[in-house]
Amino acid sequence: MIPYGKQDISEQDIEAVTEVLRSDFITQGDQVPIFEKSLTDYCGVAHAVAVNSGTSALHIACLALGVGKGDWVWTSPISFVASANCALYCGASVDFVDIDSRSYNMSASTLSKKLAVAKTHGCLPKVVIPVHLAGQSCDMENIKHLSEEYGFSIIEDASHAVGGRYLDDKVGSCQYSDVTVFSFHPVKIVTTGEGGAALTNNDSLAKKMAAFRCHGITRNESDMTEESHGPWYYQQMSLGFNYRMTDLQAALGASQMHRLDEFVQKRHHLIRRYTESLSSLPIVLPWLSENTYTASHLYIVRLKLDEISLSHRQVFTRLREEGIAVNLHYIPIYKQPYFESLCVEYGPCPNAEAYYQEAISLPMFSSLNEKDFSFVVKTLQRVLNEPPIEP
Ligand SMILES: *Cc1c(COP(=O)(O)O)cnc(C)c1O
Repeated sequence: MIPYGKQDISEQDIEAVTEVLRSDFITQGDQVPIFEKSLTDYCGVAHAVAVNSGTSALHIACLALGVGKGDWVWTSPISFVASANCALYCGASVDFVDIDSRSYNMSASTLSKKLAVAKTHGCLPKVVIPVHLAGQSCDMENIKHLSEEYGFSIIEDASHAVGGRYLDDKVGSCQYSDVTVFSFHPVKIVTTGEGGAALTNNDSLAKKMAAFRCHGITRNESDMTEESHGPWYYQQMSLGFNYRMTDLQAALGASQMHRLDEFVQKRHHLIRRYTESLSSLPIVLPWLSENTYTASHLYIVRLKLDEISLSHRQVFTRLREEGIAVNLHYIPIYKQPYFESLCVEYGPCPNAEAYYQEAISLPMFSSLNEKDFSFVVKTLQRVLNEPPIEP
C-alpha cells in the first residue's frame, strides 16, 4: 500500500535517539529544552512548551487561556476531533464555523457574521481555534481583527503547518494568535513518534502551560506560597497532568528539525508534479493562497462528481483496491455521534457538508518516490475514467 502520509527517518535521526538511550537521562534531561529552542529559533517566537501530543498541547493552551464551564470555544468542522475535544476537556461548549469553499479553512467572513449574531445572544466565544488545514494558514489577519473587536483569544491549530509561512512570518510566530500548537505524530511534517508543542510570545501563558504539563508543580521558590522546607521541596499550585515529552522523542524532533525546510521543499515539488499531471482530470486541485506558503501536509482534491461515472465512495474504494491508501480529511466533527449526543445546534456548515461529499487526500510525503507517484497519477486517471459500476 502507498500511504497518504509517512515519516521520513534518517540515519542521523536514529543516531540522535540511540545517543540518548546511552546517556543518563531518557526523560527530563536536556533534550526537551534543546528541541524547544529549535522550535522557537525556527518560528521566531519567545516560548515553546513541548508535550507528549498535539492534543495535550491544545488542552494546556485552552487551560492557560482560562477556558472552563460556561465558555464557548469555536473551531473548524473540517479538522481532527482533537481541535474540539480540547475545549470539552475543560468543561466548555464547542461550536463550529463553516469553511471557506476555496481554502477549506475556517471562513473569516462566516466567523464575522456568526460573531455578530452571538453578540446579540450574549454567547460570544472565549477562544477561537482556526485550523491550518493541509498546512496552509488561515486568514489570520482578519481573524485577529475580529478577536480585537469581539475580545476572544486565538489558538492556531497548526498541527499540519510546521514549516509553513503566513505573510512575512513563519507559522508558529504567534504574530496573530495567543498560542500556536504543533503535532509531531508520524504522519505530520516533523515527527517525535507521538508529540506536540504549544508556542507563545506571552510569558504568563508559557509559564502556565509548562506547569500544566507537569502536574501543576513548581520548584521555583519565587512562585511558592511559603518558604521552602529544603532542597527536596516543591509545591503543586494547580491541577496539572503528566504531559511531558521524553528525551528520546525530543532528540528525534531536534534532529528532524534540521531537515524541516528540505521536507517542505520536497512536498512543494510534489505539488508541482501533481498540478502538471492532474490538471486535465475532473477534479478540483488545491487552491494556494498567495498570502501563505503551505507546509503541504496533505494533498486534498475534490471530485467533480457530475463529470465522473463512479461515486465518491466508489472512487475511494477503487483507489484503495489498487493499493493507494487514500484518506478523507475530515468527517465534519459535529457528525460524530459523541458531538451529536451533546445536543448543541451546531453551525450551520453547508460548505463543510459539500466538501465532505467530494474530498479525497492523495499520497503526500517527502519520501514519495517517482515510481509510486507515477502509479498514483496513472491509477487516478484510469479510475476517474472508468464506466459506471453496476449496483
Ligand atoms: C494530528 C492532529 C491533532 C492532534 O495531534 P496528536 O499529536 O495526534 O495528538 C490535532 N489537530 C489536527 C488538525 C491534527 O491533524
